[in-house]
Amino acid sequence: QLHNQIQELRGNVRVFARMRPPAPGTQCAVKAIDVESMSITDRLGDEAVFSFDKCFGPEATQEDIFEDVSQLVQSALDGYKVCLFSYGQTGSGKTHTMLGAGEGDQRGIIPRAVQKVLEHAEQLSKKGYEYTMEASYVEIYNEQVRDLLKPGADHDEKHKIVSAPEGGCPTVSGVEREPVRSVDAAAGLVRRAAAARAVEATQMNAQSSRSHTLFLLYITGRHAASGQLLNGCLNLVDLAGSERTARSGAEGQRMKEACAINKSLSSLGDVFMSISRGDKHIPYRNSKLTHLLAPCLGGDGKTLMMVNVAPEPESAEESMHSLKFAAQVN
Ligand code: ADP
Ligand code: MG
Repeated sequence: QLHNQIQELRGNVRVFARMRPPAPGTQCAVKAIDVESMSITDRLGDEAVFSFDKCFGPEATQEDIFEDVSQLVQSALDGYKVCLFSYGQTGSGKTHTMLGAGEGDQRGIIPRAVQKVLEHAEQLSKKGYEYTMEASYVEIYNEQVRDLLKPGADHDEKHKIVSAPEGGCPTVSGVEREPVRSVDAAAGLVRRAAAARAVEATQMNAQSSRSHTLFLLYITGRHAASGQLLNGCLNLVDLAGSERTARSGAEGQRMKEACAINKSLSSLGDVFMSISRGDKHIPYRNSKLTHLLAPCLGGDGKTLMMVNVAPEPESAEESMHSLKFAAQVN
């Protein structure tokens, strides 16, 4: 009972930490001590230990990770608003965790989640539930949204976050929503989004590390006999790199980017803080990211943050920063 109340206050936010394997021939400044704690040693040799709901060491496979998020993913079919983030500095393994690579073992959470949700929906159809699923794939950069499923589309102020009526999931105006009926269809969407991002990376100076990428899956279920309606969503988010931009050298456009990234990452931090304090007013509207994810972050939504850390000693300062951020959320 008490445990449930605490969960409610925390808005059901869970935090996992994952360290990727070190580059060959380098030492590790980070250690996954046990299933719940991670330690980090800074340049002065001081060690700090952080605890999370779960910790994954370098040997953890993509399958291991998915096993621990699978339940959460499937709850979107019950009408829950679910969101999974990967957080961390550039190069820490965010994209590897969220998207992964190829069609086999190295697949990350997005392709596995879509497959799981489709399979589970198929099973529920035997109990009289009919599901329809639609996906959008967007990028948020400098507080502007870009539709990754629309060829040649650029970041555009016209895309606004539209809050849904009670019980619904927020949408982005003017952005494609495509039906997802099969694993192959979903894989097609992922490929198109990846292609859109690749073009941008060469044309626009690899701004990819400075934008958030969101795979948004809208799930509507209907129980034929009773007429019961279920409105769930599953939002899978590869956040912008959390590294703090060196003050020197960040000018003009770069400075604007740094501020916008910090704005949504710090807005996210503010929202987590505000939820854990039990505030009446939660500042969701301070950034596009938090506005879009509001129903997942608060109320009976479900959020999981995966904090990714790079283990090399030269990343110790940023890793410390990431683990501290994540520990505060926890
Ligand atoms: P980010 O998206 O945070 O910038 P990436 O996911 O691109 O980082 O990871 C950086 C590099 O490390 C990539 O080459 C990626 O394949 C590799 N990598 C990340 N995590 C792992 C892991 N758990 N096991 C093996 N390789 C990994
Ligand atoms: Mg990445």
